[in-house]
Amino acid sequence: MKPTIWQENLQQLSHVRLFNKVASSILTQLLKEFHACTLDSGEVLLTPFNRNQHLYLLLEGELKVYLGSLDNQPISTLKRGDCAGEISFIDNDHPSAYVVATEASTVLRLHRESLLKLFSQSPQIMQNLLELLCNRVRQGNQIILDSEQNANIDTLTGCFNRRWLEHVFERENTRCAFNEQPMCMLMIDVDHFKPYNDQHGHLAGDYALCLVAHTLRNQLRPKDSMVRYGGEEFLIVLPELAADEARSIGERLRQSLELIPNFYSPVGILPGVTVSIGLAQMRPKDSLQSLIARADCALYQAKQQGRNCLSG
Ligand code: GH3
Ligand code: MG
Ligand code: MG
Repeated sequence: MKPTIWQENLQQLSHVRLFNKVASSILTQLLKEFHACTLDSGEVLLTPFNRNQHLYLLLEGELKVYLGSLDNQPISTLKRGDCAGEISFIDNDHPSAYVVATEASTVLRLHRESLLKLFSQSPQIMQNLLELLCNRVRQGNQIILDSEQNANIDTLTGCFNRRWLEHVFERENTRCAFNEQPMCMLMIDVDHFKPYNDQHGHLAGDYALCLVAHTLRNQLRPKDSMVRYGGEEFLIVLPELAADEARSIGERLRQSLELIPNFYSPVGILPGVTVSIGLAQMRPKDSLQSLIARADCALYQAKQQGRNCLSG
């Protein structure tokens, strides 16, 4: 980072969020505390390894923010008028992220020694800084939410994974028990899937799994959850349904796949697959494990009965 001469230009500062609604007479005063610097493209401005004592305002160029490692995807892009380093600037600790210039950039920087002066002269700047921090907190919460969701979703099929199953079972079981409503589970296994893979290739098998997931999920209610339980096994939790209704839903799901003789995939036209389904209704003393065990038993029966059918 190199110091540079910056020609004071209030017009250029009109988009700086920290200076939003700050009177220009006060701003002219405060600007004496700021120093302009330039960054080369690729230059690292902040890292969690180096203590940061400055707040940076981006006047020109672009910065990217990375969490954990520079090899990760950036979590945000800072443009003209955005701030960087405000958290470590305030708490005088190490930055929580890496900030890197992705093009030649110009920043104005303020040392934390000037912070009190800034606040005493302009409560508006204090409010702006608080708003910027609130933004960061919200952004952080969104990142937590996104990564939680990603951690709960199977990347191949887009179904929930086993981690989510425990959560959703707990929630739906409590809700159904409280409302004295029944709950059912379907365990679904693709028929003769090993020969399918052997004949058409593993990639084709992957597309068939996506077809199963997509076809079945499209027919479910929002309150139902479809989980990829294992390689070619899926579980569907059906709240507020007793065995009779769940059976007819399971039967409809089974038929919907039976009716697809072939489908388009990126590796060409592939034959469809059929599934066998085991059904179990929740009993008062059931745990997730015991309910799955009964659905698995019923699935075994369906396989014994010749596959492409529902049992339980
Ligand atoms: P059954 O009708 O008795 O269920 O026979 P099956 O051949 O489907 O049963 P088996 O459990 O012997 O084989 C399951 C196959 O599923 C074996 C495995 O290669 C395949 N498989 C598991 N996960 C995946 C996956 O993610 N993608 C692909 N393409 N195949 C998978
Ligand atoms: Mg299986
Ligand atoms: Mg199978």
